[in-house]
Amino acid sequence: MEDEATRKMRFLFALRSQGITNPRVLDAMERIDRGLFLRGIFATRAHEDVPLPIACGQTISQPSVVGLMTQALDLQPRDKVLEVGTGSGYQAAILSLLCRRVYTIDRHRTLVREAEAVFRDLGLVNITAQTGDGSHGLPDQAPFDKIIVTAAAEDPPGPLLAQLKTGGIMVVPVGQSDAVQSLIKVRRLDSGYDYEELRPVRFVPLVEGLAAD
Ligand code: SAH
Repeated sequence: MEDEATRKMRFLFALRSQGITNPRVLDAMERIDRGLFLRGIFATRAHEDVPLPIACGQTISQPSVVGLMTQALDLQPRDKVLEVGTGSGYQAAILSLLCRRVYTIDRHRTLVREAEAVFRDLGLVNITAQTGDGSHGLPDQAPFDKIIVTAAAEDPPGPLLAQLKTGGIMVVPVGQSDAVQSLIKVRRLDSGYDYEELRPVRFVPLVEGLAAD
């Protein structure tokens, strides 16, 4: 059996080999234990660089994809960030160590509740989680310095583009849900938006409306 230190070293090595080189991002990912966001036998696989099932038929993203998206956001300590797709809460927890305030929203009430409990246990007091349809963004808290969408949309949702500050960055997987999608980095300019394709990814779809659970 591998000990904890060896597992952690392997985990960080895998992240680096996938192009996550930002020391602040690596440090945050070393500090947040992914196992706390998983249940049952899946918790024992927390250090593997694979997506894993969570409640409500959703998935926790692959750590290297979490790292890449976080790195692409170029987070600054004063940033106010919106995450669409709380899921397990793992991505939000990492964001919370790197910016001032995180708003995270999911259409599944159960996931939001479970994630909030982990945030509380970890003392991550700068995260606000809420149930809702994140494709409309969060008009009350807009504009945001950075927006991260962790479910795939066919196009970057218009309301989210509108809620991004000038100079702000949004990362969003774009494409059909049953095909390979592209991770897109959008930067809001003085006039218009600049789009950069980062890499192929595979996310669960962004679905409209609240879920029953
Ligand atoms: N970031 C998560 C992984 C998210 S999986 C983590 O770190 O674990 C994608 C999540 O997006 C799912 O939980 C799903 O319920 C949510 N989702 C899909 N469509 C949504 C929408 N319109 N609004 C809010 N959340 C949505």
